[in-house]
Order: sequence, then structure tokens, then C-alpha cells
Amino acid sequence: MSFYISNMRDIKFVLFEQIGMEKILKLEKYQPLNFTQADCEMILDEALKFTMAELSPLNVLLDKEGCSFENGQVTTPKAHREAYQKFIDNRWLGMEFPEELGGQGLPLMVLFAAYEMFAGASNSFIITPGLTRGVAHLIESFGTSKQKKLLGPKLALGEWAGTMCLTEPWAGSAVGDLRSKAVKEGDHYLISGTKNFISGGDHDLTPNIIHAVLARAENAPAGIKGISLFLVPKYRYSEDGTIGEFNDVRCGNIEHKLGLHGSPTCTLNFGDEGKCIGYLLGREGEGINCMFQLMNEARIGAGLQAMAEASSAYMNALKYAKERVQGVDIRNMKNVNAPRVPIAEHPDVKRQLMLMKATCEGLRAMLYSAIFNYDMAESADDEAEAEKNHERLELLTPICKAFSSDQAFKVAERAIQVYGGYGYSSEYPVEGYLRDIKVFSIYEGTNGIQALDLLGRKVAKVMRFWDLMNEWNAWIKKHKEDPIWGTYVSLFEKAKNDLYTVTMEFGKMSMEGDSMYPILHASPYLELFGEVYIGYMLMIQGIIAQPKLDAIFAARNATTPEAQIQLLKEHDDARFYHGKVEVAKFYTTNVLPQVRAKVEAINSQNRSVLNVQL
Ligand SMILES: Cc1cc2nc3c(=O)[nH]c(=O)nc-3n(C[C@H](O)[C@H](O)[C@H](O)COP(=O)(O)OP(=O)(O)OC[C@H]3O[C@@H](n4cnc5c(N)ncnc54)[C@H](O)[C@@H]3O)c2cc1C
Repeated sequence: MSFYISNMRDIKFVLFEQIGMEKILKLEKYQPLNFTQADCEMILDEALKFTMAELSPLNVLLDKEGCSFENGQVTTPKAHREAYQKFIDNRWLGMEFPEELGGQGLPLMVLFAAYEMFAGASNSFIITPGLTRGVAHLIESFGTSKQKKLLGPKLALGEWAGTMCLTEPWAGSAVGDLRSKAVKEGDHYLISGTKNFISGGDHDLTPNIIHAVLARAENAPAGIKGISLFLVPKYRYSEDGTIGEFNDVRCGNIEHKLGLHGSPTCTLNFGDEGKCIGYLLGREGEGINCMFQLMNEARIGAGLQAMAEASSAYMNALKYAKERVQGVDIRNMKNVNAPRVPIAEHPDVKRQLMLMKATCEGLRAMLYSAIFNYDMAESADDEAEAEKNHERLELLTPICKAFSSDQAFKVAERAIQVYGGYGYSSEYPVEGYLRDIKVFSIYEGTNGIQALDLLGRKVAKVMRFWDLMNEWNAWIKKHKEDPIWGTYVSLFEKAKNDLYTVTMEFGKMSMEGDSMYPILHASPYLELFGEVYIGYMLMIQGIIAQPKLDAIFAARNATTPEAQIQLLKEHDDARFYHGKVEVAKFYTTNVLPQVRAKVEAINSQNRSVLNVQL
């Protein structure tokens, strides 16, 4: 059984028709590759083939069988191990790393687009490779030359796996409260402590695992500033990479959880016997700063993972709704002999499908625009351009993580609704999407914490916000008089003004010492920010699509509404561009007005939540 349905047409639209992948390919860094759009498309087509052949069928098994824990060891199903081996043999891990680390030096945009398909088909599978590339990147950025030489290629190519160890039973959101210890001993540290909820903390996919562990060195100050980052192997290794003795990192148990059954979530006990050695990565006391690199990547990754599954949930629901015949067209409801119709023709079902389409395509555009910023921040030819993109990425990261995961969950819920009773049954894929997606609003910093980050750190650096406002104002000016789009641009402008006003009001309140009120509304603020951003993305897409649609109609001489409807049924591209135009109009008229309602609630100055004693 295999359920994944990709939306490759939309992925390619975003990459090549909206965001402008060619800007990335023209960067000096990528010139030696001589890499073209055709090469990108070929890689994505191959990624899809791999996804459909290996990951999509595997996911059903992983969901049912999960992984097992016996005698302190995690075992994965044989099919999981085989798929992992094929994944690394095909060099899907490490595509973006430089050649000296064994990679192909590909743009991050290509990597993330391929990862959308891998994640959409099996998030359970992709978590370990995703974290492994994150740890490889940490080593590339902060490692010593010895660490880079030995561990870099092993992790970049997935020969060994990596993990990210922050959480402790008493330190979840409050990472600064962690208690794991590191005592210096010669060229290394002795690590002790317990980490829980560690994804891929133990498994048999690779012969060794390198844990990126946050711990407190001796005499380090309390809080975040006292935290350092260590590389802690499951097995020790010699200078030529030969695996040696066990490094006293024991898996205590695995979580039995709602979804992602194929990804082992482990409690890890470090140094129970005082023999766990770790190596400092970066400098003492700078652990959180270093880890932020991995966390920020993982936050964009979590948003992408959530959207990827939601998109497949939508595509499955759409397919189902076109096939499931139930009832008659409501206009014929009194005619018992009226032909039965697919449920996709009932307005309420169609409305839900439209909302799912708008959400998934808007989220994809938002996430890919952030990944464009990420690529440019790392590789732009000049520093100013890199910095500008870095700032935008910083602003978008909490929105990409939190808004995407919350909305993706709603998409999965709607997908169940479209399936009716069958959606609630595990024979169909949509309940599984819902179970998997929930975690993306929890890990990599809960969505509540993302909202605080957006308000307290990201928007507080006002130049980031101004830069986005300037971009939006220029775009509004350019399109406001457009005869087709002017009305919709005005609706976007209203929502943008609402976001602006509430942001300024929050800034004023904070400066006047009343920060509790903005903090109380941080989550609705993030949500309305996400809605406005997606409105912008979908409007851009609609405006790009309109002339392409008109050109197809003109080329086929489809001048009457009847001829156009007929053409939309037969012509994939016409249908695709028409969908873009309609979804942009739908979102601005049906969703963006909700921004106003949120702003009104915020403007109410009601403080019941702060006053109430629950
Ligand atoms: C499947 C899975 C995989 C995971 N993988 C990893 C991993 O690989 N590595 C790792 O280190 N961790 C991992 N985690 C742990 C995850 O990051 C934590 O669960 C998360 O950070 C929340 O911590 P907590 O569970 O202790 O919840 P708490 O911190 O207790 O939070 C509970 C609730 O209170 C809210 N809250 C807490 N503090 C605040 C605050 N100051 N302001 C506002 N609201 C607040 C939160 O938003 C949340 O809604 C994983 C978790 C799961 C479920």
C-alpha cells in the first residue's frame, strides 16, 4: 500500500515561475556546477521516483510496526534499514554539502524541494536523515579541522547518524534549566545526565550515532549562558574512523506516541558509569548560539514536514472526493432519478477542498520563499544581499514553523471530514496524517514559544519588519490599479495595514511597560501575520498565472465561458493557472477578512485572561 501524492506541478511552479530559482543558479558559488533548471527538474523527478518506490510504501509499515525496544537497544524493521541504505547510496543525504564532505554542492532550494517529497511520503523516515544533515552542518560551521575531516563526511553522507539533544525531563521549553554536566578531562569532557524525547536517539540504521548534546561545563553560570555544545558518540572511534568501545550512552526507553511510529523517540542516559566522553563543539558557553543554527534549520524543516504531509492529505482528499459518489446535485434534490454525483461537486465539500488547496499552496510558497532567503543568506555574492536575506529568514522562521504546523493540522482534519467515516478509519491515510502532523506544533520549540520569539525577538528588531512593509507597500502600489486584481490588492492592503497597526501598538505598549498584553496575544498575532503573508504569496501567484491562463485561452480560441470551462477540463496547465487565479481571489475575500476579526479582538483591551484565577 502506498498513499503519497505529490504536487510536483506546484513545487515546480513555486521554484521556477514564482521564486526565481535562476537567481540562485546564477550565484558565483554555483557557477562551477554549471547547473541548469533542467538539472534541477531532473533531480526532483528522480526524488519523486525514489519516494514512490521506497518511502511511500515503507510508511504504511512504519506506522503499523514502528520500532521496538529490547535489552537497551532500538530495532527498526528490516525494510526501514534497507530503505535507509538505498537513501544514502543514492546520495540523497548531503546533496548540498561541498565536495570535500562528499556532497554535490547543490542549492538548498533543491534539497528542500526533494525533502518535501521524502517528508510527505514518510516523515517517520526522514527525521533521522534530516537531523543527521543538521549535525553535519553544525560540524561544518563550528568543528575543529580534525572533527570536520573525520566526522564531516561520515555524517554528511549518512554513514553515521546524528541527533539533537536538548530536552530534559525538567527542561523542555525552558532549555536554560538543563542539568546535564560536562567535566573537562584532558582533550575531552566527561558527560553525564538524562535527555528525553530524543528523535533517533538509538537505532540500528547506522553503526554509530553522534549526539549533539547541550550540557553545562563545571562552574558555568546558570541559565542559557552557561550551556555548551558537545559531540558525544554512541561508540568511541579512532582517528581513522574505526569504531571502538561503547561510550556509555544508554537508551532507557522509547516513547509510545500518537504518530511518527517509525521514528524512535528515546530517553538517553549519558554517563551512568562515568565513562561517557564528549568533545566540545565551538566554545564553552556558546552552546545555545551554535545549536541555534541547527534549531533554526529544524524549525523551517518542521514547517516543511507539516506542509508536506498536509499537501498529500489534500491531494488524497481531492482524489477521493472526485471518486466517491454520493447524493445528487443539490439543484436536482427533488428528483429521485437524478444522476448521483461525486462528493467533490457538493459546494460544502468543494469549499473545504479549496481552503485546503489555498492553505497548502500558500504555505509551500511561504516556506520556499524562506528557503530562498536561506540559500541567499548562505551564498549571495555580496554581503549586503546575504545580510538582507538573513534578516528576512530570521523574521519568517517562527511563522514558517508555527503557522505551517498549525494550519497543516487543520488541513489534515478537513481531509478526514471530506472522507467522512472512511477518513476516521486507519484503512485510509488521512487519520495518519493528522496523527503525524500534530508533533510539528510541539517540537523544535512549541508554537507558543515561536509566537513569543516572533514578537519578542524577531519583530522587535524593527528594521526586519520595516523591510517587509516596504516590500509590500511597493508591491501594492504596482498592482493597485490593475483592472482585474485591484480590488483584491486593496483587500490585501487592508489586512497589511491591520498587521502594521497592531505591531506598532504592541511596540508602544511594550515601551510603556505594558508588555503582558502583547505577550498574551502573541499567538493570534503570529497567526494573523501568517495569514497576511500567505495572502501575499497567493496574490503573487495569481498575478503570475493570469496572463499565462489568458494566453492558453487565446491560443485555443476559447473566448466564451463555455469554451473556457471545456478547455479547463482538458488542459492541465490551463486548469493549474486557473486554480491559481481563483485561489488567490478566494483567499483574499474569504480568509484575509478574518485578520480584521483578530485585530478587533486584540484591540478590545480585554484582560480577562490575565485577571482570571483558573
Ligand atoms: C515526537 C517528539 C520528538 C522530539 N524530538 C526531540 C529531539 O530530537 N531533541 C530534543 O531535544 N527534543 C525533542 N523533543 C522534545 C520537544 O522539543 C519538547 O517536547 C518541547 O520543546 C516542549 O517541551 P515539553 O514537552 O517539556 O513541554 P513544556 O515546556 O512543559 O510545555 C508545555 C506547554 O507549556 C507551554 N509553555 C512552556 N513554557 C512556556 C513559556 N515560557 N511561555 C509560554 N508557554 C510556555 C508550551 O508552549 C506548551 O504548550 C521531541 C518531542 C516529541 C514529542
